[in-house]
Amino acid sequence: MMRSLLFLLLFTSLYGLDLPKNAPYPGGVIVKEVKSKEKPKAYHGKKELMVLPSDKKDSYLIIAGISLNQKIDKAYSVTLQEGGKSRKLRLELQDKAYQKQYLVIKDERKVSPKKMDMKRINDESRRSREALALFTPRKFVSLSMEKPVDVDIRDDFGKRRYFNKKPRRPHSGVDMSAPVGTDIVAPLGGKIVEMGAFFFNGNVIFIDHGLGLVSMYCHMSKFSVKKEQSVKKGEKIGEVGATGRVTGPHLHWGVSLNGSMVDPRLFFARSAYTKKER
Ligand SMILES: [Zn+2]
Repeated sequence: MMRSLLFLLLFTSLYGLDLPKNAPYPGGVIVKEVKSKEKPKAYHGKKELMVLPSDKKDSYLIIAGISLNQKIDKAYSVTLQEGGKSRKLRLELQDKAYQKQYLVIKDERKVSPKKMDMKRINDESRRSREALALFTPRKFVSLSMEKPVDVDIRDDFGKRRYFNKKPRRPHSGVDMSAPVGTDIVAPLGGKIVEMGAFFFNGNVIFIDHGLGLVSMYCHMSKFSVKKEQSVKKGEKIGEVGATGRVTGPHLHWGVSLNGSMVDPRLFFARSAYTKKER
């Protein structure tokens, strides 16, 4: 009895974290506690940041996503607004080396699109940006996510990518290889705010979790949800596919916080990691 109680206490303090890991580097998440009598609003530039009550008195947590393009020689600046006053915080950043990755895509048009593809591509990238920029009110019970597909996650977040030897944007999510038709579930509750058949992302779904946290699921074969539908954590949203720019069937999973794509693995309860991933 004592032993299990002790274990439970240890587990709660070490692994029961419902918050993302503090990872103050490009592609990571800053978790910063601030003292304040009332709940402050926080901004990075014009972008509103997630603020949650801390378990300490008069304390709040700022949870900020850091862009993969963030310069690490500049501190991450946060403007805090408390009542009528505002103050600036400058948070230290760490370096993080991401490797290069060279991929070969058979469909050259998916690497160097034709002129006639550009209107569609621009329209889809606007729809993606709008979905990822959402900041909707929500009270979180927990921010801890589960895996959308029950397989190992490839360690390919942030890699500087070359398609058919041409430099393209860094890989802003993680890939999970699985056969076409494998179930994809919502890693956290939210609302389906955007979906469609996109040029690069293939069949894609965006889930708004609230307070600037939005996730995306690419290259799907099938949808099991409709736009504007609410989904619970663990609910099926569709199936793995190989649509869009792919080398084979897999789920590309992206997580955006305050408009910055961050490493989705930072949102796992630590107990959800396999030993290798932890
Ligand atoms: Zn990917």
